[in-house]
Amino acid sequence: MDYQGLLHEVMAEALRGHGRGRVADYIPALAVADPTAFGMAIATVDGEVYGAGDWEQPFSIQSVSKLFSLALALAEGGEQLWQGVGREPSGNPYNSLVQLESESGIPRNPFINAGAIVVTDRLLELTGNAGTAVRDFLRAESRNETLDIDESVAASEALHGHRNAALAHFIASYGNLRNPVDSVLLHYYAHCALAASCRDMALAGLFLARHGIRADGSRLLTRSEAKRVNAVLLTCGTYDAAGQFAFRVGLPGKSGVGGGILAVLPGRGAVCVWSPPLDATGNSVLGVAALDALTTATGWSVF
Ligand code: GLN
Repeated sequence: MDYQGLLHEVMAEALRGHGRGRVADYIPALAVADPTAFGMAIATVDGEVYGAGDWEQPFSIQSVSKLFSLALALAEGGEQLWQGVGREPSGNPYNSLVQLESESGIPRNPFINAGAIVVTDRLLELTGNAGTAVRDFLRAESRNETLDIDESVAASEALHGHRNAALAHFIASYGNLRNPVDSVLLHYYAHCALAASCRDMALAGLFLARHGIRADGSRLLTRSEAKRVNAVLLTCGTYDAAGQFAFRVGLPGKSGVGGGILAVLPGRGAVCVWSPPLDATGNSVLGVAALDALTTATGWSVF
């Protein structure tokens, strides 16, 4: 397979849609992202990495981090995580409050903000520091020791995160947080504010393509847990557009409002694409288009 040629073809195809979408601006520090930036990387289970465009430039990974906080919380604490968070698609925006009351403070799934806040709470309890736990995992898997939390993004989100604060307090009112709300939010903002490149993220996502095995050969998740994380990614990883994403891309994937999307090709590799302008559901317009073009060209899919 000529991965390099393939990436260039896919990038050219995706860039035809340039000009659509809007860069996230509800966190002021994200609004400064370059709308013309575009990067894409593929990491294979055989250890090869290919990239195109701005694939080595760090961007704000935002909700892509939720994939890693979930995997680490499961690895450290096991199945009991599922007592505090569900695994059904929400059919609502990522920052929605509406289901929490009727569902007694148990968020629908770990990838909407409410669910990710619960996961961060458990990871904080299990490790003492959810932000650095995710950072250290990404550093180890990508072999990039410079990968770090962008404190200015974390601070900007803390200052403007009224909706996340509302979600966290609401969950706490049902007794579903074990740490103080302020501290859970700081750790949640910290892992969302990690800056990493498409190269780093494709490498970091490989443990799911390897059915739970990390870069150093150790096991993070059982094969069954890795399968389940992939299943939740497919059904919930792109929020209320998860059906559309499965239809167009056919792979488990996680998006973030920084414009990144990480998708997993079980048994084969991981691919990360980054382009900041988002559609109305908070997913990168060109990112989804590029993954659509890639999987259409190669036939890669879990189906
Ligand atoms: N940190 C962002 C928030 O909580 C993450 C949202 C996202 O990437 N979908 O609003």
